[in-house]
Amino acid sequence: MRPRLVFATGNAHKISELEAILAPAWQGYEAGTIARMSDLGAPEPIEDGASFEENSLLKARALVEFTGLPAIADDSGLSVEVMGGAPGIFSARWCGRHGDDAANLDLLLAQLTDVPDRLRGASFVSVAALVLPDGREFVERGEVHGRLLRLRRGEGGFGYDPIFVPDGFEETTAQMSPEQKNAISHRGIAFRALTPAIVATLREGEGVLS
Ligand code: IMP
Repeated sequence: MRPRLVFATGNAHKISELEAILAPAWQGYEAGTIARMSDLGAPEPIEDGASFEENSLLKARALVEFTGLPAIADDSGLSVEVMGGAPGIFSARWCGRHGDDAANLDLLLAQLTDVPDRLRGASFVSVAALVLPDGREFVERGEVHGRLLRLRRGEGGFGYDPIFVPDGFEETTAQMSPEQKNAISHRGIAFRALTPAIVATLREGEGVLS
């Protein structure tokens, strides 16, 4: 089927996460409703915003402009209390290279070497945006608070998961199954909050975009 919505990600995992949330919320959901930006040949915009909100909106706006379809984008990262919220929007390139998860994590652990356990609080943050071709914009934020370990634990997840233990849990998010992590994750919270606006958009577009 022709896509009705486009997601500013090249990450198939994020699409399945969003589909798992949308499918029960909208009876008419069919596979293929959401396209990845790379499937439609859309270029990656430069993420030069100063906040998660600005970055998610600039990604979604660029995609609406390129495709003419309603677009979803998210921007996420780890916010460490004792570091004033860093790495924050720089989480993916904290070591100076974009997407080098191992080096990003090594640098953060080194920076926190002398920080005692009581000051190792941090939150994963995700801001999800939906932008429509008529200019309407919806933005939702999800956060999960926890603490940072001194050594990696677990093989799952990505990014900073091996050192992040959410409040109320003993295991890191890298030790959880994808279902367990999605149920409590910052992205899950933001996507679920955005779901009513996404479903309303799909309903409005029925017969128009398909
Ligand atoms: P983005 O949302 O794909 O731009 O992710 C930004 C960066 O934040 C990632 O490269 C990770 O370093 C970090 N991050 C975001 N979400 C998570 C998560 O769920 N687990 C671990 N790291 C994350």
